[in-house]
Amino acid sequence: MAYERYFDHAATTPILPEVAERLSQTWKSLFGNANSIHEPGRAAREAVEWARARVADLIGAEDPSEVVFTSGATEANNWVLANFEMLAVSPFEHSSVCIPALDRGAELLRSRGWQVMSSGGDAELISVMSVNNETGAILELPDIDEGVLVHRDITQQVGKLPVDLAGVDFASFSGHKFGGLKGVGGLYLRGGGGLDPLLSGGGQEHGLRSGTVNVPGVYSMGVAADIALQNIHGRFDIVRQCREAVLDGVRPILARPVIEGSPYILSLTLPGVEGESMVIELDRLGFAVSAGAACSSESTEPSQVLASAGYSESEIRSTIRVSFGWSSTPADSSELGLAIREVADRLVGLAPGQTRV
Ligand code: PMP
Repeated sequence: MAYERYFDHAATTPILPEVAERLSQTWKSLFGNANSIHEPGRAAREAVEWARARVADLIGAEDPSEVVFTSGATEANNWVLANFEMLAVSPFEHSSVCIPALDRGAELLRSRGWQVMSSGGDAELISVMSVNNETGAILELPDIDEGVLVHRDITQQVGKLPVDLAGVDFASFSGHKFGGLKGVGGLYLRGGGGLDPLLSGGGQEHGLRSGTVNVPGVYSMGVAADIALQNIHGRFDIVRQCREAVLDGVRPILARPVIEGSPYILSLTLPGVEGESMVIELDRLGFAVSAGAACSSESTEPSQVLASAGYSESEIRSTIRVSFGWSSTPADSSELGLAIREVADRLVGLAPGQTRV
């Protein structure tokens, strides 16, 4: 599929052409182990440290040593949560925060007017994502008692919107959400510490995450960060236009007002339309969108995130997610808006799960 009609950037973003180009030039020359002292090793180490500095700049870390590379945000999220017994997490978190919290006995409760899942007792760590991956909602931090550490999952923010790490002790992200390769990401640790090592062995990543560093992956994320640093505001304007272009086509048939959050994610509730049927029909027309978070597409449970945001079960089943990124244009977005409208008109009245043949 051509990525012109790809509107699932929240699930993953196609590799940026500039990143692919730089990788193709360096792929073979960066074969060394970044921990070896010979020339190939030093070249690999240089690429890794260059990438660390670019990523640190992009997220606003004070020092590159505060960034530890991981296989992605799932690993980073799991790592942070595993270090604390008493947790408070928002009910809107990604499954890689939510499930470890539930495993620790967290349950949903209301606290200070703000819904949290808590393990009970006084929380040692509070985890609140910055941009929700299903709705684009921007989550502010609640008032936090002194001494409580703060973790933010910034996966849907990095490379897309400016990041502010004031008051944040840990932050997780993934490179493939902003134009890098999949399977690489990182964790920001204020001051470079505060957690037990995730993996022990060769002592890579300041002894916190042993294992030979994924040099091409890390380098790809560094190049993607470098591009975002130069261009984040320019893309922001185009993405806003894309969002408006889709909305122009679908506004009359929406069941709920759209959430005004990150312009990169547009959650649409289409009454009488089964979200999954919409995804399948759009796929036939060459458009890629999502009926929920890709990471939970194997689950048939209605989205906990949308339920926590007050959606009824039928609204949840009628919701699709359109998400934008570097390959999105207003013209393609207009076509998508019209296609959604047309397919919705056709699908209304069909039994749940049924699609037109
Ligand atoms: N957190 C959020 C908010 C996400 O959107 C995702 C990816 N859907 C993840 C964490 C997990 O990222 P990865 O699959 O790259 O580990």
